Amino acid sequence: MTSLLPYGRQSVTDDDVAAVVAALRSDWLTTGPEVAAFEAELSRWAGGAGVAVVSNGTAALHVAYAAAGVGPGDEVIVPPMTFVATASSAVALGARVVFADVEEETFTLDPAAVAAATTGRTAVVAAVDYAGHPADYDALRAAVAGSDALLLADAAHSIGATYRGRPVGSLADLTTFSFFPTKNLTTAEGGAVATGDPELLTRARRFRTVGLVRERDELRWPDEGGWHQEVHAFGLNYRLPDVLCALGRSQLRRLDAFLRRRAELVARYDEALADLPGVLTPGRRDWASPAWHLYPIRVLDGRRREVYDAMRAAGIGVQVNYLPVHWHPAFADLGYRRGSCPVAEGFYAQQLSLPLFPGLRDSDQERVVDALAAALRRPVWPGPPRPAGVPVRPVT
Ligand SMILES: *Cc1c(COP(=O)(O)O)cnc(C)c1O
Repeated sequence: MTSLLPYGRQSVTDDDVAAVVAALRSDWLTTGPEVAAFEAELSRWAGGAGVAVVSNGTAALHVAYAAAGVGPGDEVIVPPMTFVATASSAVALGARVVFADVEEETFTLDPAAVAAATTGRTAVVAAVDYAGHPADYDALRAAVAGSDALLLADAAHSIGATYRGRPVGSLADLTTFSFFPTKNLTTAEGGAVATGDPELLTRARRFRTVGLVRERDELRWPDEGGWHQEVHAFGLNYRLPDVLCALGRSQLRRLDAFLRRRAELVARYDEALADLPGVLTPGRRDWASPAWHLYPIRVLDGRRREVYDAMRAAGIGVQVNYLPVHWHPAFADLGYRRGSCPVAEGFYAQQLSLPLFPGLRDSDQERVVDALAAALRRPVWPGPPRPAGVPVRPVT
């Protein structure tokens, strides 16, 4: 049996390993100089925004919402076409999540749906740069104009992308990144919050570090002694260690090359699939320069499940990104209903992510395209609808 070709995979070189080993041998395993250096280098990718690195992308969302002051009584608007953490991290702070539908074509948050969902209780509108394609930030900004809501970009997929020439990280009031192994660069586990607002940055840094305040002019009891630090607002320990920041810095040197290879693979998929009946390739807008994290196709005629099963059986690790977030039982149990976001839900029914990562070889990609074409050539299941849970057998 051949091993499964994954849908995403890290790229780790000897230079990365050497950087980690050097950090391990240094005086600082955590809270040391690699942290500040990684934050400064990420800031350059984020158009100069201040950056706080954290332990993962979910923590980054939790930190960003906390910095925005999200709490009980607040509403946070989120698209359902995302990883569950975009929404669940706001729930963790006591907020009510309001799902707003996505746009056809890019499946990013629809500014018209945001305008309709915004109320006096809306604290944050969280857009997601689905697959690495930026949301329409100028239109989202206009949609929340006149409310006090902050704009957040969940850029877990899109570090390195630009919107109308401006880099992701500089488009929203708060931006979050993830450095999980399948993302555009990795620190194994890791994430970051970027913001151009110094006050939000301070609040983010404090929440990340258990809420500790050390600045003398802000201490309530400044003469307690040299050891003294205080907690003014509760936080958690979401620090990213130096060992992982060293890996991130080494990876960042290759981010341009990673994005170039991803774009090349996307162009090859676009070309190979353009005339394949039964699938649609991902759309893009002319104002976006995406940083492709996923290659999300749409499988038509109700055949997504069948094509997923056939490709998995052929050793191709296709994935579905994502189950609409409000379908998760935890949200269903809170009263969220299917049918409320028809564009996202219709997309989910067709969506399939094909393997995409910098180390994917041209020959692997050709195997993916052949397996997809073979899956689609099979006759549609004959007779009555297939019972749920019964896999389609190859027709030979
Ligand atoms: C990966 C991801 C996250 C969470 O990041 P982790 O590092 O896995 O915690 C959040 N939002 C989106 C859109 C993601 O893809």
